[in-house]
Amino acid sequence: MTRFAPSPTGYLHLGHVVNAIYVWGVARAFGGRVVLRVEDHDRIRSRREYELALLEDLAWLGFEPDTGLAPLLRQSDAPARYEAALADLGRTHHVYACECSRKEIGGERYDGSCRDRRLDALPGRGIRVRLGPEEECFTDALLGPLEQVPAEQCGDLLVRDRDGHWTYQFAVTVDDLQQGITLVIRGADLVSSTGRQLALARMMGRTTAPVYLHHPLIRDARGEKLSKSAGDTGVRELRAAGVSAPEVIGTAASLAGLTDHRGALRASEVGTLFEP
Ligand SMILES: [Zn+2]
Repeated sequence: MTRFAPSPTGYLHLGHVVNAIYVWGVARAFGGRVVLRVEDHDRIRSRREYELALLEDLAWLGFEPDTGLAPLLRQSDAPARYEAALADLGRTHHVYACECSRKEIGGERYDGSCRDRRLDALPGRGIRVRLGPEEECFTDALLGPLEQVPAEQCGDLLVRDRDGHWTYQFAVTVDDLQQGITLVIRGADLVSSTGRQLALARMMGRTTAPVYLHHPLIRDARGEKLSKSAGDTGVRELRAAGVSAPEVIGTAASLAGLTDHRGALRASEVGTLFEP
């Protein structure tokens, strides 16, 4: 079981289409199933209009989740799941409140200064879980063997931020565990998160880690990540300009280096790109 997990913080663009080609393509080639999850844990940037647009564009492209759209799996719909997962985690691991602001922490790595302060989990305070010093070793399906030490990368992991929002790392790990995701396919910009998610999943009792596949991101003419640029790479804009769905998919596959031509490719055909 794999997943397509867009965040409704903007419209679908060719970068998403590349991810969808990998997700549906690998699932079709190897007999897997695709679940759709709306990753709207970021309550400040997520918008319902973007979610509706994402679903509409995805259906227009022809990518259909095997588990359907009803009920739609949306992170914001089930805060009790995360509360329960946090309570479980706290029974076996050191979970603590942290009042440090992002500014006080400075870089990405938290030094653990609140670890032994026994602060109450009051509103305005974050929640962290202590990470051990272990090295996480895994074999990415595309990138090969990788090693990461989460405690050195980020320090004790933030589970809920000071505004009360569940973090990406925590929400995605809970979801992947509860939804039985065995293959995670996503862009290479997220590869550094993998060790943290492996460590957290194990702490939550997951015995068999998912397989990870991180694929290259496509970039625009200026070398920028597509999600940071706008304009001619949006699926909406391409649709409005009269480009067909197979042409959009074919263009994305070509930009990602999966084909050597820009010919049209139907969503139902993407498995052929990955057949062993
Ligand atoms: Zn702190």
